[in-house]
Amino acid sequence: MDELKKKLFYEPKNGYDLVETAEHIEAENYCRGYMAFLNEARTEREAVSCAVELARERGFVEYIPGMELRPGMKLYRSNRGKALTLAVIGRNSLADGAVIAGAHVDAPRLDLKQNPLYESEELCFFRTHYYGGIKKYQWVTIPLELHGVIVLKSGERLDVVIGRDSGEPRFVITDLLPHLAQDQMKKTMAEGITGEGLHLLIGSVPYAGEGKDRVRLAVLSILNDMYGISEEDFLSAELVAVPAFDVCEVGLDRSMIGGYGQDDRVCAYAELKALFDTEDPVRTCVCLLCDKEETGSDGVSGMQSRAFDAFMEDLCASQGVELRRCYEKSFCLSADVVAAVDPLYPEVSEKSNNARLNYGVAVSKFSGARGKAGTSDASAEVVAYLRRIFARSGVVFQLCEMGKVDQGGGGTIAKYMANRNIDTIDAGVPVLSMHAPFEVVAKLDCYMTYKAVLAAYGDD
Ligand code: MN
Ligand code: MN
Repeated sequence: MDELKKKLFYEPKNGYDLVETAEHIEAENYCRGYMAFLNEARTEREAVSCAVELARERGFVEYIPGMELRPGMKLYRSNRGKALTLAVIGRNSLADGAVIAGAHVDAPRLDLKQNPLYESEELCFFRTHYYGGIKKYQWVTIPLELHGVIVLKSGERLDVVIGRDSGEPRFVITDLLPHLAQDQMKKTMAEGITGEGLHLLIGSVPYAGEGKDRVRLAVLSILNDMYGISEEDFLSAELVAVPAFDVCEVGLDRSMIGGYGQDDRVCAYAELKALFDTEDPVRTCVCLLCDKEETGSDGVSGMQSRAFDAFMEDLCASQGVELRRCYEKSFCLSADVVAAVDPLYPEVSEKSNNARLNYGVAVSKFSGARGKAGTSDASAEVVAYLRRIFARSGVVFQLCEMGKVDQGGGGTIAKYMANRNIDTIDAGVPVLSMHAPFEVVAKLDCYMTYKAVLAAYGDD
């Protein structure tokens, strides 16, 4: 009976029971590189410039439309510094399709409003408008750092990073002390901290003299010393507050990684590293780092933008291939994180079909919510294809969906790729505390996601 059970039952196994020591060492090395990337890439712009720098070190050159393509060529094209497409040209023509891996490099955060600055009770603040799906109460009383750009009327761009390096000042959103929070504590978690209440404390010293708004003036004079700006320049600024936590190992066994923005930079790095490790592929391999996923993939740098099609169309044109012929033969791994089963909240999970830490890269045949609405739902054929290439490459993987049926849901860029007539499936790293200022992933799953993308890129 035991033998028959072994033969007929499907029992997912913990990756630690499947992976040899040598591979754990490789996983450790891989994760060191990832952690360094995550510390550097705090916004979509920084992720793109980081990726470009890494790519250039590895021989990638900027793609100029019309360039003659040779197998093995390594190319990239930045979309306005906020999204990036990289490619390694294959031996086969694009008429045979491309292998695409797509992740997003934007993450939930607090954007400064266009008129952010005010003074109240002789303290100075920045007003914010949150970006992406956040639980607002998680963003108060934690250290925050400021990143972004200020573009002057002349067009000159000033890059801003304040609070990243140790020794630099940081910012915070205050909260009520428990002693005076009687009324606040009766509110729901959605209402306890409001969107209009997420204001950053940025200064307290008044400018010498008399009159109103002296702290505001003092703060502006500091900013003027640092960047030469006046208050009006905030109108054309993109400044964002993100958690000022360094990435770190989590757990006594150091098996996990904690940090901000792992959704979805953990998959973005997996794709990048896999592309860097792909030499002379049969089919052209494409790595997408896109923006605006957290707000619905709209806009010029989101995955619904025609920018990606323009890039692919240019590549196809160089080989005399029609874009639609390329797309219909292409395959896309939409590499995005998934919710991991959290034993502290068992009521939202369906354990047989939800992702677990250390069970490997998590494949979602579909996403969406309420009867699979808003998903592309990959075909059984596509899932079978993944099983085949993962088995060949020793990729530890699990099939999953998000939470219990009707508990909630979410989406990725998968449907926008599938809408282009490209066979697409989601696969990525399971995350605890997704969208929180400090998200947790397992090292083994990070490494297996890299191996999953590598397996796709390496397949002929
Ligand atoms: Mn995501
Ligand atoms: Mn997300």
